[in-house]
Amino acid sequence: MANVENVIIIGSGPAGYTAALYTARADLNPLVIEGWMWGGLLQQTTEVENYPGYPQGVMGPQMMQDLRDQAERFGARFITENATKLEPGADGDPHTVWIDEESYQARSVILAMGAEHKKLGVPGEEELGGRGVSYCATCDAAFYKDTHSIIVGGGDSAMEEAIFLAKFAAKVTVVHRRDEFRASRIMLDRARETENIEFLTPYVVEEFLAGEAGPLDRARVRNLETGETRDLPMSGAFIAIGHEPQSEVVQGIVETDENGYVVTEGKSTRTNVAGVFAAGDLVDHTYRQAVTAAGSGCMAALDAEWYLRDNPLVETPPSLEGTGDLAEAQWAPAMPQPTRSA
Ligand code: NAP
Repeated sequence: MANVENVIIIGSGPAGYTAALYTARADLNPLVIEGWMWGGLLQQTTEVENYPGYPQGVMGPQMMQDLRDQAERFGARFITENATKLEPGADGDPHTVWIDEESYQARSVILAMGAEHKKLGVPGEEELGGRGVSYCATCDAAFYKDTHSIIVGGGDSAMEEAIFLAKFAAKVTVVHRRDEFRASRIMLDRARETENIEFLTPYVVEEFLAGEAGPLDRARVRNLETGETRDLPMSGAFIAIGHEPQSEVVQGIVETDENGYVVTEGKSTRTNVAGVFAAGDLVDHTYRQAVTAAGSGCMAALDAEWYLRDNPLVETPPSLEGTGDLAEAQWAPAMPQPTRSA
C-alpha cells in the first residue's frame, strides 16, 4: 500500500526517541512526530546524573540531542510539529495521525507524548513563569542562592525539590494544603531534619505577585482552616504538585485511567486499540525516570515490530519477512474500538 508508514511515533523524550532508534534499526523507517517542544521534560533539566552510561553526568538537552541523533543515524525521520488527532483504523486498516489538516497513515502507532508539570492555575503563575515561578528546583535552584523561596506540594517530588533547593537558598518554606503529607516517611523526615526547611500548612497559594522590578516578589497564601490570608515575601516559587499526562490527542480513542494516563495491557505496551502502543510518562505515573521511559520505548518498538510481523490482518513490511518465530507472537487481535467522545 503506497504512502502508509510502518510506524508513526507521536512524541519525543527518552521513550519516543528510543522507540525510533529500535524501529529504525529494524528497518521500519519510522516517522516521529516529535512536537514543537521536542525532547520533553528533560529539555528543562540541567544535569542528569542517573542515566547509565554517562559517568560524568550529562545536561538534559544534550542527552535529548544525543538520543535524537542516534535514532536519526539509523534513518528515523522527524516532523517537529504537534500531532492533533489519532483516528484508528479497524481490522488491520491503517491508523491516521493528523497534524491539523495534514494526515499521515500508519500500520502501527507508538504514543510517547509524556507528561507535563501540573499547574496550580492561580493568577500570576503563568505571567511570572521564568521570572520566579518554576516547576523544577533541580534545574533552577542555583539562581536562588541565599534567598527565601518556597516549594508548593506535599509529595515526594516536593520533598526532593525542597531538600535540593535548601542547599542553595537561605530558607525554604514548603507550602502544603493539608497537615498530612503524601510524601514517603523517609523523604518527609529528611526534609524535616534539614535546618533551613520550614513547613506552612494547611495553606494554599492564591496568587503570585511581582514587585516593582518585575520578577516574583511575594505570594498571597490562605490558611484553609481560618481563612486568613497574608503575603509571603519570596524570590522563587517551585511548584511540585505532580504531573499530567499529555493524552488529549487520544482521549476517548484509547483507554485512559481516571487521571488521563494511557492504559496498557499487562506488562506490554499494547493499548486497547490494535496496533497502537504507548510508552514512557504517558503510561507511567510511578517510576517516571529517563531510563525507565527509554526502556518502555524499546518495549513499544518491539511490540510494534511483532505486531507488524505476526498480525495476519496487517501487511508485513519486507524488512520483517522471514524474521522471528510465530511462537513468540505478541500481537493483539483487533479489538472492538472504544466509543469515541465527540
Ligand atoms: P504526588 O505524590 O501526586 O503528590 C502531589 C502533591 O501535590 C500532593 O501532596 C498533593 O496534595 C499536592 N497537590 C496536588 N494538586 C494540588 C493543587 N492543585 N494545589 C495544591 N497542592 C496540590 O506527586 P509527586 O510528588 O510528583 O510524586 C509522584 C510519584 O513519584 C509518587 O509515586 C512518588 O513517590 C514518586 N517520586 C519518588 C521520589 C523518590 O522516591 N525520590 C521522588 C519524586 C517522586 P494532597 O496530598 O492534598 O493531594
